[in-house]
Amino acid sequence: MADLSSVQEVRDVTKVDRIGAHSHIRGLGLDDSLEPRKVSQGMVGQAQARRAAGVILEMIKEGKIAGRAILLAGQPGTGKTAIAQAISKAMDKDVPFTMLAGSELYSHELSKSEALTQAFRRSIGVRIKEETELIEGEVVELVVDRPATGSGQKVGQLTLKTTEMETVYDLGGKMIDSLIKQKVAAGDVVTIDKAAGKVTVIGRSFARARDFDAMGPQTKFVQTPEGDIQKRKEVVHTVSLHEIDVINSRSQGFLALFSGDTGEIKPEVREQINVKVAEWREEGKADIVPGVLFIDEVHMLDIECFAFLNRALENTMAPVLIMATNRGITNIRGTHYKSPHGIPLDLLDRTLIVPTTEYSQDELTQILKIRCEEEDVEMTDEALTLLTSIAKQTSLRYSIQLITAANLVCRKRKGTEVEKSDLRQVYSLFQDLERSVAFLKEYQQQFLF
Ligand code: ATP
Repeated sequence: MADLSSVQEVRDVTKVDRIGAHSHIRGLGLDDSLEPRKVSQGMVGQAQARRAAGVILEMIKEGKIAGRAILLAGQPGTGKTAIAQAISKAMDKDVPFTMLAGSELYSHELSKSEALTQAFRRSIGVRIKEETELIEGEVVELVVDRPATGSGQKVGQLTLKTTEMETVYDLGGKMIDSLIKQKVAAGDVVTIDKAAGKVTVIGRSFARARDFDAMGPQTKFVQTPEGDIQKRKEVVHTVSLHEIDVINSRSQGFLALFSGDTGEIKPEVREQINVKVAEWREEGKADIVPGVLFIDEVHMLDIECFAFLNRALENTMAPVLIMATNRGITNIRGTHYKSPHGIPLDLLDRTLIVPTTEYSQDELTQILKIRCEEEDVEMTDEALTLLTSIAKQTSLRYSIQLITAANLVCRKRKGTEVEKSDLRQVYSLFQDLERSVAFLKEYQQQFLF
């Protein structure tokens, strides 16, 4: 039963992931010389911006770009978020990537500067190196106690012979299970990783006549051991500065990491963490891994936030800041000044700007086709042409949303392929922005003021 429910869970998660607007994006789709392939890894067109993103990605990988700012600027639906997602997919797994929409800064229960500080510290990784003892030796004897009744955990003892001595190790249920699974018996050479709680077979004894499992419990093997060494193994794990903050914040505790409800973190805690991390770096125990902080709708930030960003980028541990906006010359929030993209000139001056441009008809068709595949929707060529012209007239995002709705209408009429009539129906049911505005204008008097 337990197995079945976990299978169900996995399926559901996959489904949710595939419905996400950018789930089809798997990377930037570049070849080895950073040239964009026409359609690759879910990406279509937007060649110049993808080339630029490829260069940025290389710089991130070489650690040459920390503390820099990049702005993806272009009309709505031209793939700015898609490109940021593609960068994150192509980055090494342990390099942090944090996403934030400008408007989120105002919906938090946190102050704007606290929310930004947390976002910055989430985007800075600390790669911690730890040495664990790895004992390597030849198995002399393995004794397993299986409880007579109930489903109690097995316990046991493993006697290992190393060069210096013979040592008996008490092992818990998981390690014993793993030993039984690996059919470990006397004469095999194994390593015990105490920190990870793992025993691994690295050599088998030829003298072993039968499998341990076949001999049953309480079987003892004694052989003349060859003896071996004790080693040290380096294990590395990466956590974000923010995670270290939360764990060390007395009012929070590490459970807050799971609930996401971390609240404000005291500046003293952060100062202590910074000192500690600096010590670890000096002692060679840790490295800083600057990640990426992506702020979408960056024009939603106000002058105080921009001042914060300018200052934060000066920090030696600063991540790469990628911003995106679809605004032209507009007010900087919190001031009466206008500026390109609503971003103050001093921040713009230190920013690499990557423009995104409108898609051709063909490119729109390609993107819509990829989305249909992603959502397992069959669509006739005629309907796809109609959907493309809807995208051209309204927006790419609106027409992408019509795919699921039209498929539902198609299924209700027991069809297998979405046809033009299905699209027409959902087009009349759901308004795009332009029609909605026209409706508002016409009936303005009847709305509440
Ligand atoms: P806005 O300014 O409104 O935030 P945007 O420029 O961030 O828009 P996206 O959200 O990235 O636009 O694009 C709209 C939809 O089209 C998304 O589902 C996105 O994944 C898809 N899309 C955009 N460009 C591409 C592309 N070049 N290749 C594949 N899919 C794309």
